[in-house]
This record gives sequence, structure tokens and C-alpha cells, in this order.
Amino acid sequence: MVETTDDLSHFLKDVHWLLDILQNIDIGLVVLDANYNVALWNQFMQNHSGKAPEHVLGNSLFGIFPELSEDWFRRKAEPVFVLHSAAFTTWEQRPYLFRFPHYRPITGGASHMYQNTTIIPLINTHGEVEHVCLIVYDVTDSAMNKLAQIEANNRLKGVSRIDHLTKLFNRGYWEHCLTQEYKRFDRYHIPCSLVLFDIDHFKVVNDTYGHTVGDDVIRCVSDCLRAQLRETDIAGRYGGEEFGVILTNTDTAGALEFAERLRKAVEDEAVATATSDVKITISLGVKQLDSAVDSTQNWLECADKALYYCKEHGRNCSHAE
Ligand code: GH3
Ligand code: MG
Ligand code: MG
Repeated sequence: MVETTDDLSHFLKDVHWLLDILQNIDIGLVVLDANYNVALWNQFMQNHSGKAPEHVLGNSLFGIFPELSEDWFRRKAEPVFVLHSAAFTTWEQRPYLFRFPHYRPITGGASHMYQNTTIIPLINTHGEVEHVCLIVYDVTDSAMNKLAQIEANNRLKGVSRIDHLTKLFNRGYWEHCLTQEYKRFDRYHIPCSLVLFDIDHFKVVNDTYGHTVGDDVIRCVSDCLRAQLRETDIAGRYGGEEFGVILTNTDTAGALEFAERLRKAVEDEAVATATSDVKITISLGVKQLDSAVDSTQNWLECADKALYYCKEHGRNCSHAE
């Protein structure tokens, strides 16, 4: 209570300090009346928006910032007026309320300031809320760190799924997919086939031309494979020069057609070396999933058996179990 001149002087000094703090604090403060006209605009808001208080005070927030979604903001602020409870928005829900440039080095990657915002009710002496205060926090640093972390995690996830040499799925991830397809079949009984294939006499390639040419051959075969795939097919490098393809929604006849198409495509290819072109062939084992297959491992064994049959019968062919 202000009762004496001394009290009044102390009170005014306190208010003066408070106003100084509000002006200089590194947080945006905006007071809005019930018509969303601006009643207070602190230094932070002035600095970042480039708009001086004389151009802002008494004017509609939506007139000053046409890019601010009026519908969305009203929906957020109405309950603050009516229910007297605060409302929050994080940068994850909405990167910013006001599109302010940020002042980090350009390498920081942000094109704008990320903001968390809070709207608090300002209760008057009659216990009514005629004004609300918008508090704007600059959270660009932590948002950028979080985004970089998410990106790094996603990249790592991708790396651990991809085989370095062929850019097909690696064995671990491909086997995971095989298990998923096995479970799906168990439930829905939609046809699904597995093709396992292996390069014929690959040791000869390595022994004659060296490992680097051997690697080129593996890459060449994986390129042929990629060219034959549909979007729903799942291809992986199963071992050194062995590959697996899961053909979803495909029966034995369809899988054998695919196998023959791929076999001919590889047969038609040649890998150039310093001395000559290397011609290669592949052998392919096919197994359509049926109720007699009792596990993912069993499914692989059946396809491998079909592949072994090809190796025993002259290679450069395909066979279904
Ligand atoms: P087959 O027709 O019976 O399949 O005969 P093969 O000579 O191809 O025999 P196999 O499939 O067992 O050969 C596998 C060889 O592949 C042995 C290994 O040295 C070689 N190999 C495995 N991984 C790689 C690799 O990443 N790069 C190269 N250059 N060679 C590899
Ligand atoms: Mg092999
Ligand atoms: Mg081989």
C-alpha cells in the first residue's frame, strides 16, 4: 500500500526498475487487450521485429504481423481470457510465432529464430482478465542442437541398414524384413516369394583379376538387380557374393519370371578390366512361402536348397523348391 510520500517514492522507484528490467530482458514481452491490440512492446520485440513501439502500440497484432495465423492464435488465446489459465506453444509444435531473423553464424543453418511462447492472463483489480501477456523465448540454440541430433540419428539408422559396397540393404536389416514378411504371411496369407542367388565361379574372378575387380563385379550384379526391382521388392546383400530378394505379392511363377529376367540381364553384362571384359553368370533359388514353411530360417533353407540345385545342374539357371 502507498500511504506516505516516502512510500510513493519507493513504489515509483520499484516500478521504474521493473520497467527497466522488462525492457532489457532477453525475452519478448507483448501485452494484448481483448481485441488483440498491442498495449506493451518491449525492447526485445522492437530489436527483432524492427518495429518501434510508436508503430505498434494500439494497433492490432494481426495487422502488424499478417503472416500470424489469426484463427490459430485466437484459438490459443481465447481460453486465457475466459479460463484465466496460461497457454503454451513449443517450437516443436510451431517453429515460431513471429518470423524474426536469427543472429547466429550462417553455418548454424537456421533461417529464423525458433521460439517457445507462453500466453499468461493479466488479472485486474476486479479479478477480470482484460489483457494477456505474450512471452516469447528465443530457443534457436537448443532447437538447432536437437534438430542436428535427430538428423544424425536418422543418418546412423540409414547407415546401419545399408551395405557399403552395393548400397542394397545389409544382411541384418534384410533378415529383419524377411521376418516381417514371414509374420505378415502367417496372418494374411498373401503370396510372397524369396529369391536367393549367388555369382557363379566367383573365386575364379578374384583369383584371375584380383579383389578390386571382384568388388566391381559384385557392384555390377547389384546394379542389374536394382534395375529389375519393383518398389515393393526388398533386396539385400546376404553374404559376400550372395543376394536375397523378397518379392511381395508374388507366387512361384512370378518369382521364376523375375529370376530369369535378372539372370539374363546379368549374363548380358560385362565388367571391363585393364586386360579384358569379365563375363559373369548367376544361379538363383526360389521359394514361395507356404504353410509348410515353419520359420524364417526354414524359408531361407528352402531357397538355398533350390540354389544348390542350380549349382549342381550347370549353374546360370534358376529353380524353385
Ligand atoms: P560357385 O559357383 O559354386 O558359387 O563358386 P564360387 O567360386 O562363386 O564359390 P563361392 O560362392 O563359395 O565363392 C565365394 C567367394 O567370394 C569367396 C570369397 O573370397 C569371395 N568374396 C566374398 N566376399 C567378397 C567381397 O566382398 N569382395 C570380393 N572381391 N570377394 C568376395
Ligand atoms: Mg557364395
Ligand atoms: Mg558363388
